[in-house]
Amino acid sequence: MRLVIRGGTVYDGTGADGRIADVAIEGDRIVGVGEIEVEADEIDAAGLAVAPGFLDLHSHSDYTLLLDPRAVSAIHQGVTTEVVGNCGFGCFPIREPAVARRAIYGYSEELPVTWSSAGEYFEALEAAKPAVNVLSLVPNGQLRIATLGIADRPADAGELTEMRTLLRESLDAGAWGYSTGLEYAQEQAATEDEVSALAAQAPFYATHTRRRDEGAAEAVAEAIRTGERAEVRLQVSHLVPRNGIEESRRCIALVERAHVRGQDIAFDMHTRTFGLTNLYAALPAWALAAGPEELDAILRNRPDELRGHRSILGAGNDWSRVVLLDSESWPKYARRDLASIAAERGQEPIDTVYDLLLGGLDELHRLMVVIHAYTEEQQREAFTHPLCVPGSDATTLAPDGRLAHTFFHGAYTWAAWFWRFMVRDERLLAPAAAIHRLTAQPAGRIGLSDRGVLREGAHADVVVFDPDAFGERGTIFEPNVLADGMKHVVVNGVPTLRDGRPTGERGGRVVRR
Ligand SMILES: [Zn+2]
Repeated sequence: MRLVIRGGTVYDGTGADGRIADVAIEGDRIVGVGEIEVEADEIDAAGLAVAPGFLDLHSHSDYTLLLDPRAVSAIHQGVTTEVVGNCGFGCFPIREPAVARRAIYGYSEELPVTWSSAGEYFEALEAAKPAVNVLSLVPNGQLRIATLGIADRPADAGELTEMRTLLRESLDAGAWGYSTGLEYAQEQAATEDEVSALAAQAPFYATHTRRRDEGAAEAVAEAIRTGERAEVRLQVSHLVPRNGIEESRRCIALVERAHVRGQDIAFDMHTRTFGLTNLYAALPAWALAAGPEELDAILRNRPDELRGHRSILGAGNDWSRVVLLDSESWPKYARRDLASIAAERGQEPIDTVYDLLLGGLDELHRLMVVIHAYTEEQQREAFTHPLCVPGSDATTLAPDGRLAHTFFHGAYTWAAWFWRFMVRDERLLAPAAAIHRLTAQPAGRIGLSDRGVLREGAHADVVVFDPDAFGERGTIFEPNVLADGMKHVVVNGVPTLRDGRPTGERGGRVVRR
């Protein structure tokens, strides 16, 4: 089949300025960029921007694409390729599905894990026919769970050998690199030596570092040491820490220094300035492990060991950053911050937290909070940095179907926010530079050379959008709203969005290394 996108402002993804041109597609390839005179199915792109499909270097859609392969939230933002397996989370290798689900985003009983190896997972994903291209890293969380289970200790020599074998097999099956999530329980006990030995097997290493609050810069320094020892292309995932601008400047400076020394290093950042978590994250592990009656007593008595616990909610002791979401238990406090609720109740914020938990004990997991952990100032500094690309740090979702009632901030908004905020509102990046960061730059990081660019011979992943309208509509409290301004999306030559509406076709592929 032949398709010509006519008369748009074409940005080729390299960072070069846009120019008016046609883009011709035949089958799954771009066959020409320039003035094209052939008979073909046509898309009129006059007044619109034409770019390579956007690449999400930091996706968590490993499993949700099996549940709903349409990737609606992503397609409506022009995303045509997602790199999954980030933060040590992912879908392989799996030996004990009941334990492995801990390191799978969006796991649901609806779709049990029936595969084990990377190769088998890729086949399952291929059978689901995703709308986007998918590349995967090998998640350290699953390597560790498959080998040690949930163990609060370093791997011994035999276990390390086993993990290396599993990693090697996964890479041979087509995975593109290795990832860690050292902040998570299943990986916390992994030592620097252990991680370095594994990273040395891979061409690319992406790390969610060990600490992202206090001590964040030291954790970035660990990642840099690991990358050097392992001689691996290093990606520091969502580099900006949760504890303020000074710490994020320290983190960026460390990456910059390593880059100047000659290390192959870069970083990414999600676009939301907040995180979503449970209100019960304010409690220590021992309290959470208690039964309902015991927890009720603990929350009433409030012993010193409870009050003394430092959690991510209370970090910096700024409770105005913590906002309660809608709940059946506390409708009157919905969408308000804990400092103001506490002031109204005439008590310390932490006592308010305990009271709210007591009032919602029946369904504790339904009490959710948003923590405003990052500022726009931090985002500006990160996203103007030449080594930084944006990523979703979310799963793709859809407003209808199996994922309709799932929330993951960023899913519907990340690329659209990046364009609206960085290009249109703040004017911190020119269109060509912003498109480069959504296309060829992340493609180059993962090692793809024939996607993320508009040139003859490249894969036909192409987007057409209105640069004056492209932007997010999802908000903190109403996140599941499709982005605006994306007109046409073509994946491997398959029109997936046409005139802003899904065509029902899905042309994505599982891309093996
Ligand atoms: Zn992460």
